[in-house]
Amino acid sequence: MAQSTSPTVPNDHILGVYNRAPLAFERGRGARLYTTEGEEYLDCLAGIATTGLGHAHPKIVEALKDQAEKLWHVSNIFQIPGQEELAKRLCAATFADVVFFTNSGTEAIECALKTARKYHWANGQPDRIEIVGFEGAFHGRSYAAVFAAGNPSYTEGFGPALPGYKTLPYGDLEAFKAAVGPSTAAVIVEPVQGEGGARALGEAELKAMRDHCTANGVLVIYDEIQCGLGRTGKLFAHEWVEGAAPDIMCVAKALGNGFPVGACLATIEAAKGMTVGSHGSTYGGNPLAMAVGLAAFGEINKPETLENVRTVAGYFTQGLKGLQDRYPDVITDIRGKGLLIGVKLAPNNREFMAAARDEKLLIAGGGDNCVRLLPSLLLTQDEAREAIEKLERTCEVMRKKAAA
Ligand SMILES: *Cc1c(COP(=O)(O)O)cnc(C)c1O
Repeated sequence: MAQSTSPTVPNDHILGVYNRAPLAFERGRGARLYTTEGEEYLDCLAGIATTGLGHAHPKIVEALKDQAEKLWHVSNIFQIPGQEELAKRLCAATFADVVFFTNSGTEAIECALKTARKYHWANGQPDRIEIVGFEGAFHGRSYAAVFAAGNPSYTEGFGPALPGYKTLPYGDLEAFKAAVGPSTAAVIVEPVQGEGGARALGEAELKAMRDHCTANGVLVIYDEIQCGLGRTGKLFAHEWVEGAAPDIMCVAKALGNGFPVGACLATIEAAKGMTVGSHGSTYGGNPLAMAVGLAAFGEINKPETLENVRTVAGYFTQGLKGLQDRYPDVITDIRGKGLLIGVKLAPNNREFMAAARDEKLLIAGGGDNCVRLLPSLLLTQDEAREAIEKLERTCEVMRKKAAA
């Protein structure tokens, strides 16, 4: 057999930046993944909230195959009807008027940050450059994105800090009000933090933050790359809060169901500095990406999909609370929103993930010693029950291990 695919033989030619589980998958269907050895796993991380409609969704496979035979790429020097169509649908469903398509979440963040600074520049306030972000945030890995999130483990050793970024405690409204001033360009926030451990910002805090920004001429950027696109049971997480729409919003992950597609959405006002030549991308919004994005968005933005998220999330969370009652020595908190569920643990989260893998359950890690459950939005109640049973056995193993 080919050595390079064996999970036990690390490939020395891959840059060693990932802490990989010793598993390689060959195919998937819905919430199931199958290893090269044919072993079945229940997937409760969905490529970190990316294969939101499960693996090999027939409609998305069909859209990709269809488009693959017609046209992949032409360049943004031409009109791309698929872009116009997907942008129209995204705008019809949100606060936004205009969309820029990217290949990743990070690039959507770059576009958002540039759009915000350029807005103030176009407004005759070029000194408004400061971007306010929050501890525990994750916005991607470009220079701007790591400094916008301010996590020292992602900035250390990469040279001088980019100027104009400030990081505040998540949800601390007083600190936020004190930090906003005449040099503040924008605030960037995940309405529900993903990597930070599935922490949801309080609804009152989100609204108060929006209002304070409006009153002070500061733009609001939501990073809904992980918590958006149905994940919390509404199309976007901020929709749970009345009157809290942003000026700019980043989406990616689930938009292509695993095909690389991201987008930066904005109001026409916030986007006014972004004129011809001010930004661009080779691949962003190419016909292949748009065909897949249109198919995925069409399925996500269905009332029955969002309804399923709310129902299954309620069932799942209840089951997890039951586990917490029975295993308070293992599970110390259940948090998050919808199907972005965080389980805070007493034992080490990496060891817990490995024990869950032994039960053929795949879950994600997270900050604050959490594990995250980010299953397909189409997960069934039976699959949720199966996940809880596997987690119960995992808790049992962890308890025995602690006692040993
Ligand atoms: C994944 C993620 C990003 C970065 O997206 P990439 O596609 O990896 O560049 C940014 N913000 C949040 C909240 C994310 O979850």
